[in-house]
Amino acid sequence: MKTLNCPKGHGAMKPMTVKKEMNFKGVDLEIEADALVCPECGLEAGTLQTAGALQLALADSYRAKKDLLTGYEIKELRKSRNLTQRQLADTMNIGIASIKRWETGTVQSASMDHALRMHLQSRIQADNYSGNREISLPRIKLVAKYMEDLIGKRLLKKGDKFLYLAKYLWYADFLSFKTIGRSLTGASYAALTFGPQLNNYKDLIDPIKTSNEDDSEPLSDDELRILEKVAHKFPQERMVYEAAHREKIWAEAKIGDLIPYSCAHELNEI
Ligand SMILES: [Zn+2]
Repeated sequence: MKTLNCPKGHGAMKPMTVKKEMNFKGVDLEIEADALVCPECGLEAGTLQTAGALQLALADSYRAKKDLLTGYEIKELRKSRNLTQRQLADTMNIGIASIKRWETGTVQSASMDHALRMHLQSRIQADNYSGNREISLPRIKLVAKYMEDLIGKRLLKKGDKFLYLAKYLWYADFLSFKTIGRSLTGASYAALTFGPQLNNYKDLIDPIKTSNEDDSEPLSDDELRILEKVAHKFPQERMVYEAAHREKIWAEAKIGDLIPYSCAHELNEI
């Protein structure tokens, strides 16, 4: 750290944390800042913090006083939900720049604060990637078996990486969310290079294959109709594969990102 001598001839000034009173957006705030201080006469030689850190300290002090989420809280909540800034921005239908600014010291509006809390503190966030349902492996197996019966092909083959099954599941889950407000299986889907796929599919394939479909809640009449619609639309595996690749909600997603269920109304092929 650089040293500085007191201009009044008292020798070296010492780095200290000082309390500063500052006015921010019309509110008087007390923040802590690192500064060089003369132990003899108390003269302060400005803060050592970067302008950015000072801005964040001010904004967070202001937000704490106004009952708004602080930048630190936004960041920690977001991480606790396992979300990137991009994923949070996408589910809120806002730009990633807003998330970056809020986390680094721009104060969000009250309505955006409300939206942030909705997405970070409630289950809405999780629901947007699981379609209002806890993931159920037996149910994925049940849906897969029913789909196999409908199209007359085996989708749960030995060594299969769910290349086709994942597309059938994706359409069925998203169509279900769109029509009855809830997915069929609770699965999350990632946009991969070869189409939408079960998120973490490598870890799920074997547990799905070995799960018992009889452990699943049975399919309702509405749910059966959704599966029949998907099978009727895509009687061949190639068809569901190619249709999925024409969907802009997959094509426009970044590779590896989760596809939110809130995009279900943008499906074009079904
Ligand atoms: Zn001095």
